[in-house]
Amino acid sequence: MPSSSQVAIIGGGITGCSIAFHLTQSGLSDVIILEKEGLACGATGICPGGVRQQFEGRADCLMAQRSVRFWEEINQRLAPEAPFHFERSGYLFLAESPRMLRRFRANVALQNRLGIPSEILSPRQISQLLPDLRLDGILGGSFCSEDGFLEDCHGITALLAQRASEKGARVLYHKALGLEASPMGWRIRTGQDIIEAEQVVLAAGADSLALAQSAGLPLPIQAEVRRLAFTLSHPTQVMTPLVVAPERGFAGKQMSYGVFYLGWLAEDPQNDDLLFIEKSLQGGASLLPLLEELPVRKVIRGTYDTTPDKRPILGAVADQRGLWVAAGFSGHGFMIAPAVGEALSCALRAEETDLPLKAFSPDRFRDQGQAEGLFI
Ligand SMILES: Cc1cc2nc3c(=O)[nH]c(=O)nc-3n(C[C@H](O)[C@H](O)[C@H](O)COP(=O)(O)OP(=O)(O)OC[C@H]3O[C@@H](n4cnc5c(N)ncnc54)[C@H](O)[C@@H]3O)c2cc1C
Repeated sequence: MPSSSQVAIIGGGITGCSIAFHLTQSGLSDVIILEKEGLACGATGICPGGVRQQFEGRADCLMAQRSVRFWEEINQRLAPEAPFHFERSGYLFLAESPRMLRRFRANVALQNRLGIPSEILSPRQISQLLPDLRLDGILGGSFCSEDGFLEDCHGITALLAQRASEKGARVLYHKALGLEASPMGWRIRTGQDIIEAEQVVLAAGADSLALAQSAGLPLPIQAEVRRLAFTLSHPTQVMTPLVVAPERGFAGKQMSYGVFYLGWLAEDPQNDDLLFIEKSLQGGASLLPLLEELPVRKVIRGTYDTTPDKRPILGAVADQRGLWVAAGFSGHGFMIAPAVGEALSCALRAEETDLPLKAFSPDRFRDQGQAEGLFI
């Protein structure tokens, strides 16, 4: 006997669980989350938890801004046994060329118009904020003190799923093998079962590509390996904001317990972990010399589901009634998951949303060339 539901969400990462949470909170409880391994076992389980509102596009800023409102209320919204901590440590982007600084100025002007309190900092102001930073060649930066960090992406995902389950959603641990249109809407083949659903949401990260292909839908999503290097702990807090130096290909942050995590933005997955460690440490130490002395304890790997314009694909697929996509997050799917959940939940229930869902439509690649991507 096949299982059936009004909405089947393929993927139990932060995206799928946020959509299920928002759907069930809005009264639609006939929801299945289909997960092949375990909740948050994809990119979400690797994600360190950076949350920012400094984006280059209006729609991206609005999604991030709405999400920050959720993150700052996370303990009221989800009522965890032990509270989550939204660390308001900020994101600092550094410019080393007049062109980059001009780009930051334009971004900050847009963000401020939308009510995001980002600002341009001079080298002097940066040095007051982070006295240990070496500012040779730095012309200025863009900083938002409302941005921050939520360390427990796994725990948040699990709790979203739990709260959805309490309102009637079911989590099924089956791997979706493919989908096809059916009289009810969609039929999902799994290793164990057939699942019938009126509406299906592809929220399976980079694996959404293969699932979409099985329904004859080409999705411009590419899987990209990304790594992070974690150092041993340093006894004092010297770099609590997440610092991004796009022209050096560096991003990194010191966590609340002293450990730094470091990324190399221009990484090539063909390179081995040793070269990755060398490059990310080099980039980090050029800004924060004490990193030269700090050993790297481990390297972790995950996958970015990247689109040509580095923005997610969200919404209904034209000509495929009842098929929806929530994938292609290009490295920032955790931070905007609350707004994605809210927007998709409204759209699936045919309700209006004030969130700019149309800007992320799966159809946009038909009409547009490749836009300039974001830094990270
Ligand atoms: C190194 C790294 C650092 C990052 N840092 C940040 C950050 O600081 N801030 C931020 O916002 N984002 C960050 N990201 C990106 C973020 O982790 C992702 O955008 C986000 O977790 C995507 O969530 P998701 O639920 O869409 O996908 P995933 O977490 O990948 O979840 C997809 C789920 O679908 C399941 N699945 C796949 N195929 C099937 C199938 N056929 N059947 C059933 N289930 C299936 C998988 O098992 C998985 O659980 C980072 C990513 C990486 C790799």
